[in-house]
Amino acid sequence: MVDIKSMTPEELTAWLKELGEPAFRARQVFQWLYRGVTSFAEMTDLPKALRQKLEETALLTPPQVARKQVSREDGTIKYLWRLADGNCVESVLMRYQHGNTVCISCQVGCRMGCAFCASTLAGKVRDLTPAEMADQVLFTRIDSGAPVSNIVLMGIGEPLDNFDTVLRFLTLVNHPDGLNIGMRHISLSTCGLTEKIDKLAGYGLQLTLSVSLHAPDDETRNRIMPVNRSVGVEKLLESCRRYFEMTGRRISYEYAMIDGVNDAPWQADLLARRLQGAPAHVNLIPLNEVEESPFRPSRRVAAFQRRLEEHGITATVRRKLGSDIDASCGQLRRKAMGEA
Ligand code: SAH
Repeated sequence: MVDIKSMTPEELTAWLKELGEPAFRARQVFQWLYRGVTSFAEMTDLPKALRQKLEETALLTPPQVARKQVSREDGTIKYLWRLADGNCVESVLMRYQHGNTVCISCQVGCRMGCAFCASTLAGKVRDLTPAEMADQVLFTRIDSGAPVSNIVLMGIGEPLDNFDTVLRFLTLVNHPDGLNIGMRHISLSTCGLTEKIDKLAGYGLQLTLSVSLHAPDDETRNRIMPVNRSVGVEKLLESCRRYFEMTGRRISYEYAMIDGVNDAPWQADLLARRLQGAPAHVNLIPLNEVEESPFRPSRRVAAFQRRLEEHGITATVRRKLGSDIDASCGQLRRKAMGEA
């Protein structure tokens, strides 16, 4: 079976041409797919024979809602999706004044091994497909009835470890006949795979790159993020600087505040020093507690923020949404795995 929903419109056109179909059919099929039909029978303006042919040769496997939690405080919705092969991933719908944002996953699990993160505890099972990524946005919108204007790739998995899929996903959601979401409304978060950051820079996309830094010194970063052991903070920040030079886009640095690990005044000073020279924005994240992890949330978030600002670095503290539905990133999937 062919995964036509992961094809770009051009690829779909070529594929349908081989079946003897004119180009305008591809546009019709693509539009139907990204309107969220769940069967080929719903593609009512296609000839019956073509619908039949698609049913026999093409995949159409929308995710099922395995669990859904709605926050009474702020309307945040967490979805646990069951994919066609039985694996599950999470997405979160967050409501902001400037529009609704969907946070999506790009892999089933993760192999990066960050010590504070729930998504990586059981390793990576597999990469998602472009369609499985786009479907999280599409079916969050359909199920919730909420319009979606922004996407963040900050759910389960490492986007740059699934590079080609993520690029294709960006094409699909960006396309006017797809989800029609502008690049400037998309953020991609990475633990810092430098070669892939350099590769991404070459595409000159206008998305926002978020780099999960979490520590300004190698000793600390090596300890909490194994990915740092082969590269180091200095090389990572060099690659970030190149990224800015090539794309003109300011980089956002994520910094989860962990008690007694990365929240000392000297670390704020070092962070500020290392970020000089290119526009940067630091996003301080109150740590979400993960049961299996020894780390606790920092009590020094405000002081750390002040200290960065004294050095001229813009820093904001991420607002916590949906705290009444607990289960930070990756935890819903883990809970479901535990009960299965
Ligand atoms: N793999 C990508 C994207 C997924 S994680 C990355 O590393 O950026 C999205 C963000 O949540 C990352 O900044 C990650 O470090 C952070 N995160 C993971 N576990 C967390 C926790 N327990 N508390 C706060 N932030 C966490």
